Amino acid sequence: MRFVIFIFGLIWQVFGPIPNADHSTEIAAREECYDDTFCIESIQDGDKVNLVISKLIPWDFTLLINLRLENMVADRKLPLIRSFTARGKESVLNLRIAEPNRKWGYRFDLKWVVGLLDAQHDDQYVYSLPFGRNKSFMVSQTYNGLASHEGKNAIDWDMPRGTGVRAARDGIVVEIEESRFQGGLDPALISEANYVRIRHSDGTIGNYVHLMPNGVRVYKGDRVRRGELIAYSGDTGYSSGPHLHFEVFTITGELQHRTIPVRFRANGRNGAQLEEGQVYGH
Ligand SMILES: [Zn+2]
Repeated sequence: MRFVIFIFGLIWQVFGPIPNADHSTEIAAREECYDDTFCIESIQDGDKVNLVISKLIPWDFTLLINLRLENMVADRKLPLIRSFTARGKESVLNLRIAEPNRKWGYRFDLKWVVGLLDAQHDDQYVYSLPFGRNKSFMVSQTYNGLASHEGKNAIDWDMPRGTGVRAARDGIVVEIEESRFQGGLDPALISEANYVRIRHSDGTIGNYVHLMPNGVRVYKGDRVRRGELIAYSGDTGYSSGPHLHFEVFTITGELQHRTIPVRFRANGRNGAQLEEGQVYGH
């Protein structure tokens, strides 16, 4: 599984002593934006700098902020990790210049992922099988499977390339990848999988993986209903052959995906515990 983490070291913003430090009313602001996801604005007012985040996407993301400070003090414990859910601007941190007559500066190290930190999964929810109602497929690997699911709550269904993949639960499409075309039984290909990620109402994300190149049929921001066609299956990425990998995850304090066991309606029964080697239809 690939974790999309972008790392940016911003330029050292080193400034000289503040003129008239005790009486300054001048407010200076500068803003940097990242990946169409958020902007961070530094607003300087006298001996203080206020960091403000503006969210550019309508769904949540989790941000880890670390700072290297020269002659500055932060009013929060660092690193700071938090999710942003609301639209608009939020103040996240204040820095204070310790000695106004000395050189001062700060540098951000920012990492972020789409998704909510420690989202609470609705365990009462019963998922639909992520394929058409007239189909049935064999589960080739389930939770903690030895082939590649150790420590992961994920399900693999063997299915021919080009099978319609359908949403297992309602939600909003928050990430897609369909430009990759390589696949094979090689861990080096782990980041070569195509996928669709759908954010559910409880903040968890459903991840549909190994999709066919150019096989995604939804756009970021689309609202999809359970049962809706979202993509065509394939075998891109680290894969032993054509199959669909499905998991539901939330974000950990290390910005990793933590997968969550979920229940399905399968073979006419709610809450079925899917087993390896068994064939399941709706
Ligand atoms: Zn898998």
